[in-house]
Amino acid sequence: MAKNGFTTTILHSDRRASVEHGAIHKPMHPSSQYAFADARELAAVFQGKPGFTYARQGTPTTAALEAKISQMEDGAGTVSFATGMAALAATFFSLLKAGDHLISSQYIFGNTNSLLGTLAGLGVEVSLVDATDARNVIAAHRPETRMVFTESLANPGTQVADLQAIGDWCREKHLVYVVDNTLATPWLCQGKAVGASLVINSLSKHIGGHANALGGAVTDTGLYDWTGYENIAAPYRGGKPTSWGLTQIKKKGLRDMGGTLASEAAHRIAAGAETLALRMDRACANSLALAQFLSTHPKVAKIHYPGLAGHPQHERAAQLFGNRYGALMGIELVDEVDLFDFLNRLNVLILATHLGDNRSLVLPMAHTIYYEMGAERRALMGISDNFLRVSVGIEDVQDLIGDFVQALQ
Ligand SMILES: *Cc1c(COP(=O)(O)O)cnc(C)c1O
Repeated sequence: MAKNGFTTTILHSDRRASVEHGAIHKPMHPSSQYAFADARELAAVFQGKPGFTYARQGTPTTAALEAKISQMEDGAGTVSFATGMAALAATFFSLLKAGDHLISSQYIFGNTNSLLGTLAGLGVEVSLVDATDARNVIAAHRPETRMVFTESLANPGTQVADLQAIGDWCREKHLVYVVDNTLATPWLCQGKAVGASLVINSLSKHIGGHANALGGAVTDTGLYDWTGYENIAAPYRGGKPTSWGLTQIKKKGLRDMGGTLASEAAHRIAAGAETLALRMDRACANSLALAQFLSTHPKVAKIHYPGLAGHPQHERAAQLFGNRYGALMGIELVDEVDLFDFLNRLNVLILATHLGDNRSLVLPMAHTIYYEMGAERRALMGISDNFLRVSVGIEDVQDLIGDFVQALQ
């Protein structure tokens, strides 16, 4: 059978895996435990054979969603989590130990920055570098370096990491290369194409898309050979070496830490994921039109959006993301406009945290997600005091532009 396209594959994924009664959706399985008729089979599943035991380690519903994420990322396997943060925490805490060194992009989501602080407190050395140039990543290398982490398209500054060059170098040095693909989504960029070992997606954002469920996922692209990774514990060094990393992440992250995705949420996310490509194309087109309009507005001082020719990584974004630039932008207004008064005047855009929803959202960054870290760290991450994050939805674009026009008046 010919390989189907992105949307066809997702739409028919459950059906192809043969759902009972010919249902076209994998049903929600709320059962906490799974019974066995044969004790030997029960023991085999506990010892690594694929199957279900206790829902903390997954259900048929989460497995069906994981299959879709693997298809989207062209990966070898996926483990789902309760949130994107749970997926990130499971990855870092399962694969790194005290004394190891992690190189991370300095342009990352604020809560991920905080998580790296927790990791450092447990003895993992963390270097933050400007990953828009691979030379900065390479310069941070030490004998203890185990992992490199970056977002493909950074929240909220929209920096585009030097993804391919970092991937090439990680392969040469046999480092685990982790890419958080939440903002670009696998529709704009597959982590595997830039050499990622593991790809993280917050399913709460574009993939779910409707702001009605939280979730996260880690996908192994199959590119990394885990036989040479010394932090894989003996019980997980069985089966195909390409699966060892994900097995350890699942055992530690789900079984031991319990960051499990509920079936109901998995079901909603799977339904949302069916239209990822359509929603993303519309949101990207809306974003470009809005960014172009605002870039000429006298009350706007600066726009951070990779679709504008003045963005430092405009060309790279065009090449990596197929001439689409994502649905998130940073906006800095001129000093004369009172930021909070402006926000209070918006009618269509919703004043709320979150991103990747069908509805457009706006949030001041320095006062909210990036408040706790203080001014110095904000400066390193490129967040000025009047930085507004706008997550552009799929509304009719003239309504978004009109809302800005009236609120800026
Ligand atoms: C939101 C976000 C996360 C965390 O995802 P949750 O599902 O909200 O926990 C991680 N990385 C990036 C880039 C994000 O935007």
